[in-house]
Amino acid sequence: SQVPSLTLNNGVDMPQLGFGVWQVPDSDAEKAVATAIESGYRSIDTAAIYGNEAGTGKAVAASGVPRDELFITTKLWNSEQGYDKTLRAFDESLDKLGLDHVDLYLIHWPLPAKDTYVDTYKALEKIYADGRARAIGVSNFLPAHLERLIAETSVVPAVNQIELHPQLQQAELRALHAQHGIVTEAWSPLGQGKGLLEIPTVVAIARKHDRTPAQVVLRWHIQTGNVAIPKSVTPSRIVENLDVFGFELDPDDLAALGVLDEGKRLGADPAEFHYGA
Ligand code: NAD
Repeated sequence: SQVPSLTLNNGVDMPQLGFGVWQVPDSDAEKAVATAIESGYRSIDTAAIYGNEAGTGKAVAASGVPRDELFITTKLWNSEQGYDKTLRAFDESLDKLGLDHVDLYLIHWPLPAKDTYVDTYKALEKIYADGRARAIGVSNFLPAHLERLIAETSVVPAVNQIELHPQLQQAELRALHAQHGIVTEAWSPLGQGKGLLEIPTVVAIARKHDRTPAQVVLRWHIQTGNVAIPKSVTPSRIVENLDVFGFELDPDDLAALGVLDEGKRLGADPAEFHYGA
């Protein structure tokens, strides 16, 4: 495939661009994931809470693409944190996906007030040791959560999947990730398709390269070294979002996008988010 990979800290390769399926109903997920795989995506990002692991798994099975050419990520939901519950929840996810292993298993949110993420992560280490996840990691972890995890467990997370786009560039976390060899994975990489794609700077760079604003933003992620997992259920956009390897942003473009950072979250603050816990 045309998508380059990043090598995780355990030697496993992860495609730098994948397909996210949040808010895609299970009944539509099979078709959306099938379209994505046909278009050339090899990495799919789902989660237990998305309720579409079954549809995702059906598309994977029907795709005809060898399992070892696909990279499937799912995530442990908040209600299932704790060592034993995590092991059971993982079995259920595998069952729904119809797979015998995933490529990446993530703790969806840290839930700092609940204070169970260390034990939960130890269950992920067991899953990893058993070969049922080729890599393990976290999502929405703030620096303090990552530092504690690294101090109290054995396997450095391969990935931290966080909200990241030009209006929320996450410099502090990216620097900490670099120090520990953790790959930064961007969720809502297009800023949820809202204001970001209409900012004059983004529109002007798109015109200059004869590309779309979404392609400019995804290209920014690629050149920044992030993994990005844009979501769309529109076939033409699914294709458009993957077609970002035939042009390059120049230093002026990168500088102009660099100053769009407002530290503005579209999603929840991980220090406070305890939904479902
Ligand atoms: P996104 O930034 O990928 O934006 C998706 C929206 O942008 C689409 O619904 C559509 O309205 C628009 N869009 C997509 N392609 C476009 C294009 N080419 N041109 C114009 N508009 C376009 O936002 P997202 O869905 O929130 O995030 C992507 C993925 O990240 C999710 O599907 C999910 O897999 C993951 N995610 C993870 C977490 C987490 O807590 N770990 C949270 C949110 C999302």
